[in-house]
Amino acid sequence: MITMTNVTKTYEGQEGAFNAVDDVSLEIGENEIFGLIGESGAGKSTILRFINALETPTEGTVEVDGTDVFSLPKKRLRQHQKSIGMIFQQFNLLNNKTVRENVRLPLELHKYNDPLSVGEVLDFVGLGGKSDRYPGQLSGGEKQRVGIARALITRPKILLCDEPTSALDESTTEEIVGVLKRAHETFGMTVLVVTHELDVVKSMCERCAVLENGHLVDIIDIARGEERRSY
Ligand code: ADP
Ligand code: ADP
Repeated sequence: MITMTNVTKTYEGQEGAFNAVDDVSLEIGENEIFGLIGESGAGKSTILRFINALETPTEGTVEVDGTDVFSLPKKRLRQHQKSIGMIFQQFNLLNNKTVRENVRLPLELHKYNDPLSVGEVLDFVGLGGKSDRYPGQLSGGEKQRVGIARALITRPKILLCDEPTSALDESTTEEIVGVLKRAHETFGMTVLVVTHELDVVKSMCERCAVLENGHLVDIIDIARGEERRSY
């Protein structure tokens, strides 16, 4: 469903050009929960951001449902981007808007055919009673629930999670992993999780790619316990 072929991203660094992503090929199945794990700077976010065209690869192709994302005409690229939800390490909420307003935001920006209602998604993430609060009145875990609700309200077919639990403590991490797994079961979408936390990948992903310095060094089949290297 998502196919990356020989993808490279070259940046001009202070010591000359370097490949933040180096010749990576990956195939992620429809409805799969797939992890990208590696240390900070390994290239995980860059790979994630190819999928919704927030970053453009220097070489290689990224296909979603058989279509090359970077050859889409403008209007179809918009449609593609609209079909993808994203959640972030730092939640990216608007602090001067309430929970309800934050969750509604995607619907204010674009037209969606069959969105969920604010009430539905807030109940789903367990924040039904807090719709009139402001982000500053919420815990980290609650803020991430708002972020998840904002991503789910459009019924995305792909959910991109960029370090979704890295700002959270251990027990809150487990809760958020639980919400994400439940979202996957309930709404059925392809989920990509970028993280440096092996526990997160082990508790929610079916497979994961291990990245080091822009290189794909392993694919681990978590369900089958085929962990070939200690990380
Ligand atoms: P990760 O998500 O694994 O932490 P990133 O994909 O964010 O890694 O970054 C990979 C590498 O590319 C890092 O060394 C980062 O500093 C570098 N990088 C990311 N974006 C840019 C940019 N716009 N310009 C230059 N270097 C960048
Ligand atoms: P996040 O962790 O929230 O994904 P980052 O801090 O990795 O965000 O990056 C924020 C922005 O800065 C991104 O647009 C990224 O491309 C850019 N960026 C990251 N690292 C570098 C770098 N070394 N040089 C220039 N831009 C960078």
